[in-house]
Amino acid sequence: MTESTEQEPNSKKHVVIVGGGFAGLQCARKLAAHPHVRVTLLDKNNYQQFQPLLYQVATALLAPDNIAFSLRGTLGGHPNVDVKMTEVVSVDPNTRVVQTAQGHQYQGDFLVLAAGSQANFFGTPGADEHSYPLYSLHDAERLRSRLLAMVEYADRDHSLIGKGALNFVIVGAGPTGVETAGAFGDMLQTALKRGSRGIFSDLALDKAQILLVDGGHAVLSAFTPAAQTYAAKMLEERGVQVRLGTRVKEVGSGHVVLSDGSRILTHTVIWAGGLKATQLSNNVGLKTDRGGRIDVQADLTVPGFAGVYALGDFANIAGKDGEPLPQLASVAEQSGKWCARNILLDIAGKPRESFRYLDKGIMAMIGRNAAVAEVGEHRHELQGTIAFAAWIGVHAALLTSTRAKIEAFVEWAWEYFGGSRGDPILDRTEELRIDWDDDSEDT
Ligand SMILES: Cc1cc2nc3c(=O)[nH]c(=O)nc-3n(C[C@H](O)[C@H](O)[C@H](O)COP(=O)(O)OP(=O)(O)OC[C@H]3O[C@@H](n4cnc5c(N)ncnc54)[C@H](O)[C@@H]3O)c2cc1C
Repeated sequence: MTESTEQEPNSKKHVVIVGGGFAGLQCARKLAAHPHVRVTLLDKNNYQQFQPLLYQVATALLAPDNIAFSLRGTLGGHPNVDVKMTEVVSVDPNTRVVQTAQGHQYQGDFLVLAAGSQANFFGTPGADEHSYPLYSLHDAERLRSRLLAMVEYADRDHSLIGKGALNFVIVGAGPTGVETAGAFGDMLQTALKRGSRGIFSDLALDKAQILLVDGGHAVLSAFTPAAQTYAAKMLEERGVQVRLGTRVKEVGSGHVVLSDGSRILTHTVIWAGGLKATQLSNNVGLKTDRGGRIDVQADLTVPGFAGVYALGDFANIAGKDGEPLPQLASVAEQSGKWCARNILLDIAGKPRESFRYLDKGIMAMIGRNAAVAEVGEHRHELQGTIAFAAWIGVHAALLTSTRAKIEAFVEWAWEYFGGSRGDPILDRTEELRIDWDDDSEDT
C-alpha cells in the first residue's frame, strides 16, 4: 500500500482533525478563517450527519439529504482546508501521526481527535447482530426500510402479525429511545393511515405494538419528575407501551427476551440503550474511561501530549462539578470552537485557556405538539406545544446550512399542517430478507 506522510509545504502550522462531526467540523470552520494555519480534516464519510434528527429519517419524516451535509461544501472556499474521505485506524499520540485503512499517514503539529461515539450493547447476547442501532445515516435508512418492510409484509400476509411483524421493541428510554418511540407511534397512528381508508387499505395498523423497555424507573432519567410523567403520558397516547425496571437479556432474529422472563416476538429491535466512544479509541494508545472516552485536561488537551486534543463524544470532558459533561451536540460544538481557540493561542505562544461550557439546557421531542424542555442552567421547564416549538427552533438553528433549515421547515410544515410526510419508500431490499420460521413460538 502507498504510504504518504503529509509534510509541511511551508511554514504554516498543520492541524490534523479526525472526525467531521459537530466537534471536528466546528474546529475546522474556526481555524479555516486563519490563513496562517493549514487544516486536514479526515472523516470516513464525506458528509456531516446530524444525529439528533436520525429518528426523523427512520420514520420517513425527513429525507436522508435533509440531515447530511457535504464536508467539502461546508468548508469550501478555504484554500487552507483539505478534506480527505478516509478511515483512521490508529493514532500515535507521541508523533501525532495517524494511520488510515487506505494505507496513508497524516502528521500534524496539532492533532484533534473527534471521532464521536457508537452503540454500546453492554455484551447483550445477539444485540450486535440482530438489533438496529441509530447512530448514523446508514442506521436510519436501514431502520426505515425495516419498518416499512414489516408493514408491507403484514399487509400482504396478515398471519405474519402473529409472528411479530408489527411488534417494535425500543431498548432504552433516554431521549433517543423516547423520540423514536413517539415518532413510531405518530407514524403508525397517523401518517400511514392518512385519508379515509389509509394508505394500507385492509391492514389493521392498530394491531401494531410499540414497546419501550428500560432498566431504570423513569423515562428521560435526566429530566425532572414532572417532565418524566408528561413524557410517559404522551407516549401512552401514541400507543407506546412503556416497560420500566426491565432489561433486554437477549436479542434473536425474531424475538427478544426480557429480564422478567417474557419473550416477545419481533423482527425490529431498535437499540438506544447506551453509547461508547467509536472503535478508534481502542487504538489511540491513550487513557480512556469506561465508555472508551479519552480523558482530557481542562484545556481539552490529552495529559502528557500538549499538541493532542480530544473533543465531543470522543472525550471525557469534566464540567464545573467535576462530573463528565453529557454527550450532546452543544458540548461537541462548543468544545470544537474552544479547541480551535486554544490551538491559535498555542501558535501565538500564549497560554491555553480552560474550557467553559455554556449550558443551554436539555430537550426531547415526544411527538406532534408534545415535547419537554429544561432551558438554561436554571432549567426553566417547558412542556407541550411551546416546548415543541422551541425544539423545532433549536434544531433548525443547529442545522448546518440555510438550505437545510428551509428544507427541514418545509417538511415539518407539511407534516404539521397537512398531516403528511415524505413518501414511505422502501429502498433497501436487504431489510426484506426475513426467515419467518426462525422464531415462531407464541409470545
Ligand atoms: C439518535 C441520536 C439523537 C441525538 N439527539 C440529540 C439532541 O437532540 N440534542 C443534542 O444536543 N445531542 C443529541 N445527540 C448527541 C449528539 O448528536 C452528539 O453528542 C454529537 O453528534 C457529538 O458530536 P461529535 O463531533 O463528538 O461526534 P459525531 O457527530 O458523531 O462525529 C464524529 C465523526 O467522526 C467520524 N469518524 C468516526 N470514526 C472515524 C474514523 N475511524 N475515521 C474517520 N472518521 C471517523 C464519523 O464519520 C463522524 O463524522 C444525539 C445522538 C444520537 C445518536
